[in-house]
Amino acid sequence: MSNHKDLLSSPYYKEPGPKLDKESPFESMMERFRFATDLLGIEEGMFKYLASPVQTVTVSIPVIMDNGEIEVFEGYRVIHDNVLGPSKGGIRYSPDVDIDEVKALAAWMTWKCAVVNVPFGGAKGAVKCDPRKLSKRELEHITRRYTSAMYDVFGPDQDIPAPDMNTNEQTMAWIMDTYSMHSRRTENAVVTGKPILLGGSRGRKEATGRGVVTVTLAAMNKLGLNPSRSTVAVQGFGNVGSISALLMYEQGARIVAISDVSGAYYNENGIDIPQAMAYTAARNGTLEGFEGCESISNAELLELDVDVLIPAAKEDQINRYNAADIKARIIAEGANGPITASADSILDEKGILVIPDILANAGGVTVSYFEWVQDRQGYFWTEERVNRRLNRMMREAFNLIFGVKEQYNITLRQAAYVYAIDKVAKVLRLRGIYG
Ligand code: NAD
Repeated sequence: MSNHKDLLSSPYYKEPGPKLDKESPFESMMERFRFATDLLGIEEGMFKYLASPVQTVTVSIPVIMDNGEIEVFEGYRVIHDNVLGPSKGGIRYSPDVDIDEVKALAAWMTWKCAVVNVPFGGAKGAVKCDPRKLSKRELEHITRRYTSAMYDVFGPDQDIPAPDMNTNEQTMAWIMDTYSMHSRRTENAVVTGKPILLGGSRGRKEATGRGVVTVTLAAMNKLGLNPSRSTVAVQGFGNVGSISALLMYEQGARIVAISDVSGAYYNENGIDIPQAMAYTAARNGTLEGFEGCESISNAELLELDVDVLIPAAKEDQINRYNAADIKARIIAEGANGPITASADSILDEKGILVIPDILANAGGVTVSYFEWVQDRQGYFWTEERVNRRLNRMMREAFNLIFGVKEQYNITLRQAAYVYAIDKVAKVLRLRGIYG
């Protein structure tokens, strides 16, 4: 491993990431979807039904900008499926989002909710805008006008948004307020991921990382790995990565590497994760300059010889170019789509147990479901109750999917898709086609 601290501090330094696959995460998702429908013998008509969203809405969002001029943004909401219950999915603000990406992400949410047995369908929303170039006032106006345009789509019994890329608790508070103004009553169950003061759930912020760790421990148990004698590498030190690292650390695991956009930090004796979290909290979220570790690249982190690897940064990190060099025994996908479809079979041949994103990071949507339940009951749980129920649902989901894996002798990822698609198809058949 090279030490390129000097290079890292150069403003011109660009980290050599792993080569990117041509596959998009959505193509990867469709490939896995096709595998599952083939294995289940899903007929052509049902395939088409499952592959098409039930509703696609595009709206124009005119906003008076701070300079007094009118700007028009485009907003989308796609409901992929609502046979299991109201649809659920985040809203992202991004300059290069398009409707096809939103459709794929909405389908992804359908499978994720089905895997953890949350009674929701899948949806996704987006506004094509660059939040870095917008003031807080402009963002608020975009959010409120988007919500107003989507008033007939959203609803606690219909479709429930949540935060996603570049949206946060504040965005959800504006959506909830705008929706409530139109409804003439406070409707906090219309969104999740809200501030606790507005009906958000305790434990929601940590839920995704907590879920990652619950299923990782379950997988380690299957392989006979003892957490307190294991090594872990975590890519990404944001919400999901830092909480996953912290909870594995609390289990006694040795966290030998962590990383973020500034690079990766390696210490074979183990990194003090609470100290790393205090460090990033004091430095606007970055690990840059974190001492007591050797600097390595994010690509090198992925190839470390560890028991558990948790990619929790972004998509396409493990692909056909580096899959053969991955040495971890277990990979838990904290991020969405960090492994491309072409890497799946290489990792499987190497005997690596991959816990797929739609299972591993479903703790977030599970606690979103708890938030919705609490809002509807008007009765709020302790953090301890949230965590206990989350752990139970994640463990149950892991065991269920592991059972499907054994039954068909397929990978855990294939099993997750098979379980989810079979469940939605069964419900569709029971409900029948109206008309
Ligand atoms: P975040 O913005 O809090 O953190 C992302 C982290 O990844 C940061 O530390 C950032 O520096 C790092 N990063 C970005 N690019 C990187 C790169 N090229 N190499 C190494 N590190 C890099 O985001 P998050 O909420 O933790 O989400 C991370 C992933 O988990 C995303 O794929 C997201 O879709 C997925 N996810 C998040 C949640 C949730 O509840 N937050 C739920 C499900 C899935």
